[in-house]
Amino acid sequence: MGSALGRATARFADFLRDHAPLLRKLQWGIVAIYAFLLIVPVFLPLPGNTASVFNNLTVLAQFAFWGIWWPFVLVSMPIMGRAWCGWFCPEGMLTEWASERGQGRAIPKWMRWGGWPFVAFALTTVYGQLVSVYQYPLAVLAVLGGSTAAAMIVGYRYGHSKRVWCKYLCPVNGVFNLLAKLAPWHYKVDEQAWRHPVIRIEPVNCAPLVPLRHMKGAGDCHMCGRCSGYRGAIALTPRSPEQEIVNVARGDGWQTALICFGLMGVAIGAFLWSASPWFVSFKQWAATWLVERDITWPLIDSAPWFILTHYPEVNDSFSWLDGAGILAFVAGATVCVGGATFVGLWLADRVSPLAQAAGLAGVHKLAQALIPSAGIGVFLGLSATTVTLLQHEGVRTGWVAPLRFTLLTLAVLWTLRLAWRVLGQRPAGLARRVLSWLLLAAGLAPFCLAWWLFFAAW
Ligand code: SF4
Repeated sequence: MGSALGRATARFADFLRDHAPLLRKLQWGIVAIYAFLLIVPVFLPLPGNTASVFNNLTVLAQFAFWGIWWPFVLVSMPIMGRAWCGWFCPEGMLTEWASERGQGRAIPKWMRWGGWPFVAFALTTVYGQLVSVYQYPLAVLAVLGGSTAAAMIVGYRYGHSKRVWCKYLCPVNGVFNLLAKLAPWHYKVDEQAWRHPVIRIEPVNCAPLVPLRHMKGAGDCHMCGRCSGYRGAIALTPRSPEQEIVNVARGDGWQTALICFGLMGVAIGAFLWSASPWFVSFKQWAATWLVERDITWPLIDSAPWFILTHYPEVNDSFSWLDGAGILAFVAGATVCVGGATFVGLWLADRVSPLAQAAGLAGVHKLAQALIPSAGIGVFLGLSATTVTLLQHEGVRTGWVAPLRFTLLTLAVLWTLRLAWRVLGQRPAGLARRVLSWLLLAAGLAPFCLAWWLFFAAW
């Protein structure tokens, strides 16, 4: 920690620690903007064709939430760690605020289930598509507002001044956790100093419940700075963005599922279905098949807006068949893209195993190398909405395609570099290492093909 950069980051963390009330005021300001953009558009008429961010609040809210907020919060994770969560997130702040005044109950066992990050992400992603969350204020209120209400209820009931919601149930906690492992700084614990504290041993309230003494990475930490200098042992410290993936992260089954089948599966299906000619063909084939058998109810758009998109006033309603088609497409993408990625990983691990009888531990460790690719996929998918909204505002977007393919290429190359380094720690020789690496790379082919179809072919 001797470097000037190290001293500067540590001082910055001390500043955060010492100005917690200021941070809270900033968070209340964000809560106010968030609530305004979430609630007011619900009471306005749906925007017409000429509406723009400059003259229509609903379009402005749409651009703020889906054009800026989501894609760039995602980008902030590998750049700053989970600073978004600790400094700005309205939901995190509200759940902690409710917890400060709440019942302080013990966290129930069902909530600690390790599958929530994957399940909550997959369900929210699919539900968002079914109700067209990128377009309609009612759907935004249901998805984001519902999540915020749940966060506050969980905060009120469980933990003392804690962020139980963020740690266990937030639908994007798992994604943020993965991406923050690439952050170029983290709160580092000096084991030696911890054992022999010389200063500050008063308790620290780590709201997201990070076990401070054993903290090794940045995945769970919300970067709030409260533990900065604790026992003279914790300091915000620069590091290589590859350090956690290569040397620390072991991964587990649920993280692997989230990477392969969540981010590189469900999310791809959710982003691609609306652009896919295969989706249209499948629907036409299914509709013909149903009509020939006199089964017409799936073709009716009778579902309410909170189950399937239903806005007849702007000629946009999903039939039951539309809903089933979306689910089928997402499932297909999950099997084809996520499945191929997983098979590539598994074969790579078989050829160059971690150790004898390591089970799937080697697969989970290797899966961590996929984080850059998985992350860029979600960013590219979310930023497609940004680009659509910019086009609607008349902005020229010819520069977007080369930028997209450049980012995708860089992320895949980074994944391959991380995989090479992770495989280098295994006992197998060079030939097996190369073969493993090639198998992992081959598993990524459907992932790259999916983005090429989306951005170039369709
Ligand atoms: S470990 Fe906890 S207390 Fe320390 S900075 Fe991270 S979130 Fe804050």
